[in-house]
Amino acid sequence: MWWQRRRAAKEEVPVGVQLTEETATVAEEMSQVDDDPQANMAELERAVDTVAALLRAVGKYAFDLEKIDAKTVNEMCEKWARHILVGTPRPGDEERSVAQGGRDWAGVRLFMAQHRRSESKYVTKTLHDLREVIWSFVHHLSRAFIEDQAVDDQVTRQLDQLRAAIVSNSTEHLKRAAIAAIAVIERSVTERKQRQQTQLEELGNRLRRLRQELEEARREMALDPLTELYNRKALDEQLTRTVDISLLSGQTACLLMIDVDHFKSINDTFGHAAGDAVLKQIANCCARTFPRKTDFVARYGGEEFVVIVPDTATDAGRMLGERLLEAVRSLTVIHNGQEIRVTVSIGVSGFIRGDSAATWLNRADHALYQAKQAGRNRLVVAE
Ligand code: GH3
Ligand code: MG
Ligand code: MG
Repeated sequence: MWWQRRRAAKEEVPVGVQLTEETATVAEEMSQVDDDPQANMAELERAVDTVAALLRAVGKYAFDLEKIDAKTVNEMCEKWARHILVGTPRPGDEERSVAQGGRDWAGVRLFMAQHRRSESKYVTKTLHDLREVIWSFVHHLSRAFIEDQAVDDQVTRQLDQLRAAIVSNSTEHLKRAAIAAIAVIERSVTERKQRQQTQLEELGNRLRRLRQELEEARREMALDPLTELYNRKALDEQLTRTVDISLLSGQTACLLMIDVDHFKSINDTFGHAAGDAVLKQIANCCARTFPRKTDFVARYGGEEFVVIVPDTATDAGRMLGERLLEAVRSLTVIHNGQEIRVTVSIGVSGFIRGDSAATWLNRADHALYQAKQAGRNRLVVAE
């Protein structure tokens, strides 16, 4: 048989060269092929050589696919090439020493068709995924730069080019545009970092000045004559400053609004002076419960008090509020030999980024209202 004369392990010649030489030879010899059986045989041998060379070329330049790696593809191709050239068993039939029933031409066609389909699917999907990733990158980066006031025109231009490259089918173009974009973005990120560093330093300075102002202002603040706590005006100023600092520093802060329960009836029962004595004692309770230098205890007006507790999360604020409730519960005010017992209700609100002094205070006020509605002598934390 003709194939028994084939070379077993023909050295592979670079594909491009081989094909060019083959093409030339075939063209030259085509004219000689007639009904000459020897010429037909030579033609057939060249066809077999070509199929084997094609298989080997596919194997040599194989790449990893989702379900099969490049090495396995290469081995499969080599097995098919040998099967075609010298009649070794086809892949999957390796236990046989020789192929049975001649060459499996249908098998080799099926193998190549299936392999090419897998490659095509893989490449299409990978390119699609790559484009999606770059689109998402471009989208997020664009948004980040839009948010930044000092958006760099060069980056925008480069991103536009990258967008165009993604749409075009040229991978080389895409690669060049991506590299150029990365260089420009890198530069811009460095500049932005420096800008942010400066901003951060400015922020730090401003924060230090604010803290200093806070300390100075505190010393000059007016006190309420009856309770000797800070008065309403002082409270308003302190609230605004605390809001500014919390906004800049991101520090937590807590606010407690305290109102004496049924105070009118204390006045009515024991007299106005007894009422005053009770207010003084409650003020002392507040001052004792919030002894930190940074805690700010004020008389809001009438029988209402407000405490600002900086650097304190809502949970800790609630705990301190509970402590105050307990301190007032265990308080007995003795006035003109009469024992007066009293309770308070408390509304607590934690500072939320975006709060103004008014909104922060309003939430505490609303929580206090809820505490009153729920039966007094208790604490409610604002939502
Ligand atoms: P609630 O539990 O709902 O808070 O009832 P309340 O009686 O405490 O509330 P209301 O607002 O009806 O009464 C507050 C009273 O506090 C009325 C006012 O006369 C009295 N008050 C306000 N300032 C002073 C003060 O400086 N001294 C005295 N003794 N009483 C005051
Ligand atoms: Mg009141
Ligand atoms: Mg009251």
